Amino acid sequence: MVLCWSSSAAAEEVPTITTVMENGPGAYRINVVFLSEAYVASQRETYFNDVAVATEGLFQFTPFKEYRNYFNVYAIWAASQDSFLSNVAWGEEPRTYFGEPGGLTSSSEKVEQTVRAFLTVGNPVVAAILVNDDRAGAGGVHSNRTRNRFIGGMSIGTGLLHHDPNITEPIYRRTVIHEFGHALGGLSDEYNGTLVLAPGQTESNFLGSRAINVTTETRREFIKWNHWVDPVVPIPTPVFLAQPTAPGGSFYLDSAYADKVGLFEGAFMFDRGWYRPKLHCMMRDSPSWEGSYPFCEVCREALVLEIYRQVDPTAEVGVAVSDTVTVFSINPPVPVDHNLQIQWLVDDSVVPNQFSNQLEVTDTGIGYGRHTVTVEVVDTTEFVRKDSEGLLVRSVRWQPVVFYPPPDFSGDGKVDFDDFFMFADVFGRAKSPITERYDLDWDGRIDFNDFFLFADAFGGRISESRISVELPQ
Ligand SMILES: [Zn+2]
Repeated sequence: MVLCWSSSAAAEEVPTITTVMENGPGAYRINVVFLSEAYVASQRETYFNDVAVATEGLFQFTPFKEYRNYFNVYAIWAASQDSFLSNVAWGEEPRTYFGEPGGLTSSSEKVEQTVRAFLTVGNPVVAAILVNDDRAGAGGVHSNRTRNRFIGGMSIGTGLLHHDPNITEPIYRRTVIHEFGHALGGLSDEYNGTLVLAPGQTESNFLGSRAINVTTETRREFIKWNHWVDPVVPIPTPVFLAQPTAPGGSFYLDSAYADKVGLFEGAFMFDRGWYRPKLHCMMRDSPSWEGSYPFCEVCREALVLEIYRQVDPTAEVGVAVSDTVTVFSINPPVPVDHNLQIQWLVDDSVVPNQFSNQLEVTDTGIGYGRHTVTVEVVDTTEFVRKDSEGLLVRSVRWQPVVFYPPPDFSGDGKVDFDDFFMFADVFGRAKSPITERYDLDWDGRIDFNDFFLFADAFGGRISESRISVELPQ
């Protein structure tokens, strides 16, 4: 008798990652990571096509279009043994890589582990699972797990797309954008539904919701998006049923204030008691609606704020120090449609006409001693009217110290033992007019810090003074 060794679970393929769009280091960008679920090995090309369509759809849509440089996009490929579309016997579970046929695996541990095998924990991530399944719907969830910077996840069924892309591609794109609104921005659905508020219930009873774009509040001055509401718009905002535009068409909801932000009843899957900011919005009408409505002003603002919560344009800094010149630099992502306002300050005075990403400072220009160099970066986008966290006004500050001329105390053109003995004589003393030149770091004492600076210069022939820069605070 021969024993055959066979494993019911064949060795899993090792996932691979492909760069789809890279605009900067992962730590300074929002990293959208697609993952394949229920695609079999022969469907690799199909998966990457689905990723390409999703990416294109997302970054052609406001505000991701304007802020595309704030994002990186990657695609992780892992083949499944079964497709949901393949002939799995009735009652048998298809063997898929992430193993959850429901498709809503975007926050599962395996998804997170798979992503983190490629992207380190400091890199903010939105996971987007493409589920090769006709039956799977779509979902997106914003994560509060800020500890590991997993911002959120979404999953989307792509099976339908493979039947007739001409019909289904626009719906698929809009689904991706809508779910991304949930996953990145923590936005709520703005559509009506069958839920009913219990008597006395308000949004404070829904603690799990961030409720950025939906509310139960009907007092104008307390509406969280009141800064977008035109005073002429009635609260709540009236709507009416409009006549069908074509014979045989259906009545549809319209409003005299359709292009304004107001307080429209019907949101968060409730017909009554919950309100939304606008008649139409990507968070309401997608994906079943054939038209393509943009995000309303309130959702758009929340998305831009979240982008800046994750991406600090002053985070990537550089300092290049030479003997006499120091170049301070930042490397912010740049919006596609406008420039960031950049302002440099030395010792809290604005450096005139200096709006670029870098500032050159010379020792003679700022003089000996301790200084500050600050750069402020402001995004003045009209997409944001209220920024209570100050996310769009960022700054970084360095503390350069310009030392006295090199410690050639004896004046013989060299830093040598003559100078060391002179230094040793004053070591430990306080600063005075006589000892001042030995206080190399300008802290008021002649101590070991000065000795280390002296030691750095020992044996050298430095003709100019030096600038040293402390790390940004
Ligand atoms: Zn909205």
